[in-house]
Order: sequence, then structure tokens, then C-alpha cells
Amino acid sequence: MRRAPPTAAAFLPSTLTLPTLRNAAASCTGCDLYKNATQTVFGEEPARATLLLVGEQPGDQEDVAGHPFVGPAGRVLDKALKEAGIARNQVYVTNAVKHFKWEPQGKRRKHKKPSAAEVAACRPWLEAEIQVLAPRAVLCLGVTAAQSVFGKSVRLHELRGRRLNTPMTQAVLVTTHPSAILRGPDPAQREEDYRRFIEDLRRTAEYLHQPPAGEMLHKPTYPSRQR
Ligand code: SF4
Repeated sequence: MRRAPPTAAAFLPSTLTLPTLRNAAASCTGCDLYKNATQTVFGEEPARATLLLVGEQPGDQEDVAGHPFVGPAGRVLDKALKEAGIARNQVYVTNAVKHFKWEPQGKRRKHKKPSAAEVAACRPWLEAEIQVLAPRAVLCLGVTAAQSVFGKSVRLHELRGRRLNTPMTQAVLVTTHPSAILRGPDPAQREEDYRRFIEDLRRTAEYLHQPPAGEMLHKPTYPSRQR
């Protein structure tokens, strides 16, 4: 008999608010990633953010601290948000996968990309975060985040620079992950990647500054929505 795919769905609370979601996610065992991680790293407020940023998964420092984007990639993100005129404290920051996946490399814990099954397993948390917050826009940082939001495999270069809607939310933009900028092979490439990242953030800020059209394209999939 085939095993059912892993999923966090059974761990969602009956009433969806950011605190109930965060509490419930702390004991999620919906896939195997909780086994080797220190803790669940859930998204962080403000609860009335108009922009929700989705990364891939917590890194080594985030896993220990219990907060998203506090390591080197977070510092790039903070600097870029500031340059693009977006206040970090007005942005809800989360990850497609809430536990740190890693493999040993000497004494280090080396980041390991989550599988498609693990991204799909963790997707109910992201879907619930988006439903509760109902942000005006979701910005995917990297292909794993986009894969979770679109619910299928995607190619970053095909989505970058466009504004799309999905069943999950009405305005989705896609850019690179700040850690990909840090991994650039040389300073010139890193500078170019950072410049394009700022461009994408500015495009997102421009959209947020437009008056809302008032449309709500996606139907809520969960019964209650409270902040
Ligand atoms: S990665 Fe997501 S689905 Fe897997 S155990 Fe952690 S919170 Fe649950």
C-alpha cells in the first residue's frame, strides 16, 4: 500500500490567527524535517503587513534563534529593503519550509535544499499565513518560495519581473533569494545580482503604493479568519 504524502494539514488549528498558527506549528511533525532541527521558525509580524515575503527555509542561525532572516541573508535583505524604500517592520517575513534542513560538513551544518515533497508538506502553513494576513502582495524570494506559492515546479527567470495571481493570493512577484546573491562567484556578479534584487523590490514597492483595485480573486479555503 502506498504511504500518504507528508503534510502539515492535520496540525493546523481550528481557528486561524497568527498566534494560534505559530503555537500549532511549534509542534508540527508533518514531515521528517523537524527531527534534525532545533525548532520551528515561523513567520514574523506585523499582523497588518501589506507585503508578505517568503524565503526558502530557515538557515543555521535562524534555526538557533527561532526567527526568520536573522543571518547573513537577512542582513542583505534588510539593506535592500531600506534602499528600495520598504520598511522591514512593515513586512511579514516567513519561509516556505519552517524547519532547517541540513547535512553535516565537518563541524558545520550545511544547508540542504528541501525536496518538492517537503515543500508541499509545509505548504498549508504558508497558505494559512497568507489567508490570515491577506497581504496586498506576496514576494517570493527564490524558486522554492515560488514553487510553494504556485503549487508546482517553476522557473525563476520565467516569472521574474511579472506580477501574477494564484489561487493562494492575488498579486505574486518573484525575485532571487538574498543568499543566492551572497553565493555569486565574484564581486561584479554579486553587485549585478544585488542591483537586480533592488529593482524587483522597487517594482514591488511601486505596486504597493498604487491604490488597491478592491478585487479578491482567491476563495478562502479555511473556515475562519481572525487576526
Ligand atoms: S518542515 Fe513544515 S511540515 Fe515539515 S515538520 Fe516542519 S513545519 Fe511541519
